[in-house]
Amino acid sequence: LSDRLGNVFDKLKGRGALTESDVREAMREVRIALLEADVALPVVRRFIDAVTEKAIGSEVLKSVTPGQQVVKIVNDELVEMLGGTGEDAEPRELNLNAKPPVVIMMVGLQGSGKTTTTAKLGKLLKEKHGKKSMMASLDVNRPAAQEQLKVLGEQVDVATLPIVPGQQPVDIARRAMEAAKLQAADVLLLDTAGRLHVDEALMAEMKAISTVSAPTEVLLVVDSLTGQDAVNVAQSFTGEVPLTGVVLTRMDGDARGGAALSMRYVTGKPVKFAGTGEKLDAIEAFDPSRVAGRILGMGDVVSLVEKAAATIKEEEAEALAKKMAKGEFDLDDLRMQLKQMQNMGGLGALAGMMPGMKKAKAAMQASGMDDKVLIHMDAIIGSMTPKERKRPKLLNAKRKKRVAAGSGTQVQDVNKVLKMHQEMAKAMKQIKKMGGLKGLGALFG
Ligand code: GDP
Ligand code: MG
Repeated sequence: LSDRLGNVFDKLKGRGALTESDVREAMREVRIALLEADVALPVVRRFIDAVTEKAIGSEVLKSVTPGQQVVKIVNDELVEMLGGTGEDAEPRELNLNAKPPVVIMMVGLQGSGKTTTTAKLGKLLKEKHGKKSMMASLDVNRPAAQEQLKVLGEQVDVATLPIVPGQQPVDIARRAMEAAKLQAADVLLLDTAGRLHVDEALMAEMKAISTVSAPTEVLLVVDSLTGQDAVNVAQSFTGEVPLTGVVLTRMDGDARGGAALSMRYVTGKPVKFAGTGEKLDAIEAFDPSRVAGRILGMGDVVSLVEKAAATIKEEEAEALAKKMAKGEFDLDDLRMQLKQMQNMGGLGALAGMMPGMKKAKAAMQASGMDDKVLIHMDAIIGSMTPKERKRPKLLNAKRKKRVAAGSGTQVQDVNKVLKMHQEMAKAMKQIKKMGGLKGLGALFG
């Protein structure tokens, strides 16, 4: 997606507000990208509509390009459709507000990761929430399925219901409720059977189990690599059992996260957890921002835009842009830029954010430049007189010595700052010639 959007956005560069045709052109690419990430078609449609409406006519921040602005809008909508973050986020915590034992029922296709996730949750509940769980496997279809959960239970040190051969799922569920009560467990985790495909027998079984156990949480476990099929699975379960959330497994694989968007849309329920490996601690709270980034694959342009908006006062950027346009760029300006770089998380963070900045970062590191250098540079410029900052040429050998002494550095460090200033001033003149990159110039010099 990065490449494709890159092309479209190059065309968008340098315009003031997002026009309808700009947005429509960009959306064609976003649409393809979503389909490639295995987002289901109806979901893609709704998404594109929502984003198009928001993007057309929206103001472009001064310090970013229109292209970056579109990415931000697309990203924000993705995050929202995935459940949101911060104060506006839908609740993704497990609901444990019920009379113990609180029943959590896992449903899903065979091989989706139900049994593994059951054990992961048992461990998580114990370690993070201090809850005592009991786990019970109701899978009588697959030989050794119950044995599998028992072994995992031993590994995470969470009790499992003793196996009684020949018992049917609903009866096992009843027995599990009794046993959990007797042992004063806070939570009862019910691991159920799956099928290779959804069928009526499976649904009847899930319904019956849910009726006798009255679960507080019914979590649909879905392999994130399933793609378009995931939607059919979700749809089938949604009508039959009272789902309360989704767990996406195998997020450690090369899944692009499209399933998350489809699941959230089709079930209308929050994605609560992401499984990130076979190990029993490989489970994480679902993070919409991260998954949105994965679907878009736009590096961290988004956080760049956010940080730019938060850090750079418009007037400052404007004043600098004017100066640059005149080819003026003094040491005060350099100092301001260094401050901004620090505010934005230092060189490392900046390099990580910008596509193409990785090389620049390596070069900086090779020349021994790190975040401490930013602070030193600031001290050096601070030790100059205002006149010297305006006219670096004034800095002869004697003055350089004074500045070095004043900032606790060496003359060669002072020279480095001057050299950097020269290079940046030169680069800015070039950017000015190329035109359009004003915003980026203000950010990165
Ligand atoms: P079930 O049939 O739904 O109970 O699925 P299982 O829990 O038995 O899991 C099937 C396979 O997927 C096992 O080999 C698990 O180790 C593996 N698995 C489950 N969750 C994850 C995950 O998040 N990441 C990876 N890489 N493997 C997983
Ligand atoms: Mg299983």
